[in-house]
Amino acid sequence: MVHTSEIVVIGGGVIGLVIAWRLSHNGHRVTVLERGQIGREASWAAAGMLAPHCELDQPDAFFELCQKSLEAYPAFISALKQETGYAIDYITNGTIFPALSDGDQQKLEIRYKRQKEAGLPVELLSAKASRRLEPNLSGHVQMALRYPADHQVENRDLIRALTQAIRQLGGIIHEGTAVKRILTDQSQVIGVQADSVSWETRHIVNATGSWARYLDGVPNTVRPPIRPVHGQILSLATGDAWPFRHTIYSSKTYLVPRSNGRLLIGATVEESGFRKEVTVEGILQLFHGALRLAPALRSYPFEATWSGLRPTTSDSLPILGPTAVKGLYLATGHYRNGILLAPITGDLMADMIENQSIPSLMKPFLPDRFYKPEHREV
Ligand SMILES: Cc1cc2nc3c(=O)[nH]c(=O)nc-3n(C[C@H](O)[C@H](O)[C@H](O)COP(=O)(O)OP(=O)(O)OC[C@H]3O[C@@H](n4cnc5c(N)ncnc54)[C@H](O)[C@@H]3O)c2cc1C
Repeated sequence: MVHTSEIVVIGGGVIGLVIAWRLSHNGHRVTVLERGQIGREASWAAAGMLAPHCELDQPDAFFELCQKSLEAYPAFISALKQETGYAIDYITNGTIFPALSDGDQQKLEIRYKRQKEAGLPVELLSAKASRRLEPNLSGHVQMALRYPADHQVENRDLIRALTQAIRQLGGIIHEGTAVKRILTDQSQVIGVQADSVSWETRHIVNATGSWARYLDGVPNTVRPPIRPVHGQILSLATGDAWPFRHTIYSSKTYLVPRSNGRLLIGATVEESGFRKEVTVEGILQLFHGALRLAPALRSYPFEATWSGLRPTTSDSLPILGPTAVKGLYLATGHYRNGILLAPITGDLMADMIENQSIPSLMKPFLPDRFYKPEHREV
């Protein structure tokens, strides 16, 4: 069977969905092809922190991309809520990054100075002020940094809303459809081949996350050098008794409170190929880190564990943009920040595909930084 679609997005994680949503909004006929269930890989596993300020302190091109995406979030959430009527848990209470040792304190004080000089939104809290804001923090807290502009979102709500919004706009989503091959003619995309079905199209977005290098039919030079980085995560059932108002962040463990009565404890960072098991060692590491931050958590009921594969590049930056095969675009490599970077990725990719030119914010993240072809075509 052969279908046709103006644009085919391969991969129904948050990145594929947000691109499909933006393009559908602008009147394009888009088909999303997802191998499994929509949004059930990294985009389901994520903790939903929108936290560029506590994760990054270099005001470089990547920081700017993150910052722009964070700024776009309120309008993004409100558009999705308005279009679908779905609730999306979006919390703007900020993040607290406590120091529990002299070494932590020294690092955070240096960080505070650098971030303050760069004009970033950061506050320095005494131990007393930290515990006044968050009484469940460990009594060993020496001081903390507060990032009032860092937010968090329930990424699973986001997936549901994006899926519904795309369908309402006339976009087509096929689950259980694994794309095997990209079909080309003289270095121009002409379609995609799944098991027994194919689609004719002139525009394909490869948004297959950690699997982005495994689509056949294109030269090695346009297969993105992506590897999976495993993350294990777990949740406690807190009910209405929120143990924290803020997200609590540390270099090893973070605690993310959700309005739906869960506290997420994340996440391991493991180079273990495509293995996705939740291990005893991983869970022990998370509990150890969480109890160090907040010993009071030991009395909360344990709820669930899960894990996911973060799509990662050798420079830890996303890959966004056109390839040397005309009509084939890449949007992957979002590593630890794919939920944060969703709105800006949707905007930039839709802009590039529609206008056939590269937005300036996208330039540091083009695929050809790994291949350096003689010429680049959009
Ligand atoms: C434990 C953990 C915690 C995280 N926490 C955060 C956080 O707090 N904040 C944040 O911003 N980011 C976070 N991330 C990172 C974020 O989850 C990812 O960057 C983001 O989800 C990547 O989205 P994606 O759509 O590229 O990939 P995915 O969600 O993995 O989606 C790719 C999709 O492509 C599909 N696919 C693959 N091959 C094919 C094929 N051949 N045909 C059809 N479909 C195919 C897959 O089935 C999958 O659904 C976290 C990740 C993990 C694992």
